[in-house]
Amino acid sequence: MNQKADVVVIGGGVIGTAITFYLSQRGQKVILIEKNDLASGASGACDQDIILQSKNPGIHLQLALASSQMYKTLEKELDYDIEYENTGGMILIETPEELKIMEDFVNRQKALGLQVEILNYKEALRYQRGLSNHLVGSTYSPQDAHVNPIRLNLGFAQAARRYGAEILLETEITKIKVKNNQIEGLETNRGTIYTPVIINAAGAWAPSIGRMIGLKIPIKPRRGQIVITEPVPPFVMGDVLSARYIVAKYNPELYNNSESAAVKLGVGLSLSQTRKGNILIGATREFAGYDITNTRTGIKEILKNATRLIPELKEMNIIRAIAGLRPYTPDGLPLLGPVNGLNGFYLAAGHEGDGIALAPITGKIIADLITDGKTFMDVTALSPNRFLM
Ligand SMILES: Cc1cc2nc3c(=O)[nH]c(=O)nc-3n(C[C@H](O)[C@H](O)[C@H](O)COP(=O)(O)OP(=O)(O)OC[C@H]3O[C@@H](n4cnc5c(N)ncnc54)[C@H](O)[C@@H]3O)c2cc1C
Repeated sequence: MNQKADVVVIGGGVIGTAITFYLSQRGQKVILIEKNDLASGASGACDQDIILQSKNPGIHLQLALASSQMYKTLEKELDYDIEYENTGGMILIETPEELKIMEDFVNRQKALGLQVEILNYKEALRYQRGLSNHLVGSTYSPQDAHVNPIRLNLGFAQAARRYGAEILLETEITKIKVKNNQIEGLETNRGTIYTPVIINAAGAWAPSIGRMIGLKIPIKPRRGQIVITEPVPPFVMGDVLSARYIVAKYNPELYNNSESAAVKLGVGLSLSQTRKGNILIGATREFAGYDITNTRTGIKEILKNATRLIPELKEMNIIRAIAGLRPYTPDGLPLLGPVNGLNGFYLAAGHEGDGIALAPITGKIIADLITDGKTFMDVTALSPNRFLM
C-alpha cells in the first residue's frame, strides 16, 4: 500500500505524538510510524514531573518555562484527562556544600523569572512531612507540576487523530529514500510512504534511524530504574528531588572518584505520587546499553537513598519496579531542528530526563519550524548541526 504525507514522524513517544498533534492541528497531513506501541519507550516507563527547578538556568529553563505555560491549557486543547496538577516541588539539600551550589543555581533561575526560594529545615517540613533531620533545608517552587505521562502520550495521539493524523503501530522502517540531498519518502513493512519531510523522534533509538542515512547521532540510552509502592493516602507534596541529583548532573566532577554504589549508578531522589496513590521512587541514571532490566543493586540503592532522606517511606510496600531509557546527549540539551545538507530531515530527540516537561514546547517548535520556517525563540543552541557538522 503506497501513501503520501506532508510529514512523517518516526516514534510514538510523548515527543513524536506531541509533534504529530501540533502539525495536524495546523492542517498538515501527518503519518506517525511506531515500531511497537504508543508509550512503549521511555514515555511509558518514567516519572511524571514537569519540574522547572531541575533545569539549568539558560535555554534549558527557558524551554521548560514556555512548556509549563502550554500545560495550563493543554488538557482542554486535547480534550483528554492527562491528570495535570500544579502541585509545586522541592529539592532536598543535605550538606552546606550542596546548599552553596543550590543558592547559586536558584539565584540564576530567579533571574530568568522562575519563582523559587531556599527553605531551612523547619520551613521545608511545612511542605513535606517526614524529612530526615540531617537535612539542611530545601528549595521550593510553586510552579512545578506533574502529569500522567502515559495519558499525555495517548492524549496527544488521540487529539492528533481527530485532526486527521494517521498512526501506524507495529510498523518497521526498512529504508529512507533520499534523492539529490532531498528526503523523498520511506519504505516500511507495510509499503512505501512518499513525503518531503521526516522527523526523527525515536528517543534513545534516534541513532539507528540516523544510521539509515549515514548520520552519526550522539544520543545514548541512559537507563532509569523506578520503584513503585502500593497506593497510599496522600503523602508526597508534589515533585521531590534531591540536590545530589542536580549537583551530580551539573557538577559531576564532585563525585568522580566516589566508590559508593549509589553514586556509580547515578542514584538521585525523585519522588512523586500518582492520582491513584502509588508513590514513584526514583531513580538511577546508568549507561547500560539498551537493557531495560531492573537490577537488584539498582532497586536497593534507590530505596536506601529514599529512606535515608524520608524514613517514613520504609512503612510502604513496594509492588513493582520499572526501567526506561532516557535519550542522553553530551551537553544535556535536546537535538531539535533540520539537519544541514539533507533537506526535509529533522531531529526531535535527546530530551534525556526532561521529555515529559518539554513535550508541548518541542511539538510547537518543530511545528513552527516546518510550517513557518522560524519559531518564537532563538533555537540555534538546540540545532542538531552542533554535533553533525
Ligand atoms: C526513570 C525515568 C524517569 C523520568 N522522569 C521524567 C520526569 O519526571 N519528567 C520528565 O520530563 N522526563 C522524565 N524522564 C524522561 C522522559 O521519559 C523522556 O525524555 C521522554 O519520554 C522521551 O520521549 P521520546 O518520545 O523522545 O522517547 P520515547 O518515549 O522513548 O519514544 C521513542 C519511540 O520511538 C520508537 N522507535 C524506536 N525506533 C523506531 C523505529 N525504527 N521505527 C519506529 N519507531 C521507533 C520507540 O518504540 C518508542 O516508542 C524520565 C525517564 C526515565 C527513564
